[in-house]
Amino acid sequence: MNNKIYLSSPHMGGQEISFVKEAFDTNWIAPLGPNVNNFEHDLEQYTGAKYAAALSSGTSAIHLALIMLGVEAGDEVICQSFTFSASANPIAYQLATPIFIDSEPDTWNMDPHLLENAIKDRLSKGKKPKAIIPVHLYGMPAKMEAIVAIAERYGIPIIEDAAEALGASINGKAAGTFGTMGILSFNGNKIITTSGGGALISNQKEYIDQARFLATQARDAAPHYQHSQIGYNYRMSNISAGIGRGQMMVLNNHIEKRRAIYENYLKKIALLPGISFLKEPEGYRSNRWLTTILVDPEKTNGVTRETIRLALERDNIESRPLWKPMHLQPVFADSPSYLNGVSEKLFRDGLCLPSGSNMSSEEQDRVVNIIYSFFNQVVA
Ligand SMILES: *Cc1c(COP(=O)(O)O)cnc(C)c1O
Repeated sequence: MNNKIYLSSPHMGGQEISFVKEAFDTNWIAPLGPNVNNFEHDLEQYTGAKYAAALSSGTSAIHLALIMLGVEAGDEVICQSFTFSASANPIAYQLATPIFIDSEPDTWNMDPHLLENAIKDRLSKGKKPKAIIPVHLYGMPAKMEAIVAIAERYGIPIIEDAAEALGASINGKAAGTFGTMGILSFNGNKIITTSGGGALISNQKEYIDQARFLATQARDAAPHYQHSQIGYNYRMSNISAGIGRGQMMVLNNHIEKRRAIYENYLKKIALLPGISFLKEPEGYRSNRWLTTILVDPEKTNGVTRETIRLALERDNIESRPLWKPMHLQPVFADSPSYLNGVSEKLFRDGLCLPSGSNMSSEEQDRVVNIIYSFFNQVVA
């Protein structure tokens, strides 16, 4: 059996261990310490956000953002439907209702027209949504200019889910810095990892101060343990942050590698009939976290994304259908949604190809050759 090729696996740069060792040597084995402060500083420098709080996950970052925006039981929160469930779950933690919005075809992210229709419709039903959660899926920025304009027109704050998009930008402005707050994830499969972790970023200091406070059990300033609010245990550990500091040193390199993998797949398989790729709109820079293809069975002689996925699996290669939209998930069956068919088609025809920054060119060729085998052509 050939060695396993993963969709996206952790890729250490080498320095991570020295930051972790420093934490051991100085006994900072806690959810605070110099690595946490320095990692936050690195994130601020890199994204251009004024403030960052390192947290235990991207999910906890979204949860705290919703809490700080006052989302409570019975409220409505607008969320992109085409995403991972972690974008929407924290809405349910607050006993609020997610309102799902379909995607537009240029970036596969939240459709601004549907967003505005949804806001008008919710307002006409007597409820003003408390927040909007657009997502930069697979590292491709959403149409933030239009989304921000709509959000401002109706006075609704944005929580940008940039969990997959660290290093992506629109005209040089980092994904995650367009909204009131942005969130990042450092889970094991993301573009950099702390083995598990996340961050909240914002230009407004009060949100980041408040997030740090809530993330450490909401302790009031008193020598004893005094609480006037419900707190959470959501802070990042100083060990994880040490891994993060090392990963920040190789982030740009990882992005270059992932972008090169996209270009390689594009060059070799975009010519096949019925296979198409997600292009960057003018001024948009994706971090190409995962290369995604669409397979149109009407043009491939009946080959579907599932035929390709199973063939890759037989050769010990992991690939995966695109995210199943939230409006199709049984757990969110009762949530209102505003649809145009785009995300359902993406889910039906789309496949994520292995895209890890640690993939060799031989491994990329294995993927390409299997896809080629359906088209009876020889790799150029
Ligand atoms: C990974 C991910 C999250 C959640 O991040 P965790 O750190 O795993 O909690 C949220 N949204 C999207 C789009 C993600 O891909």
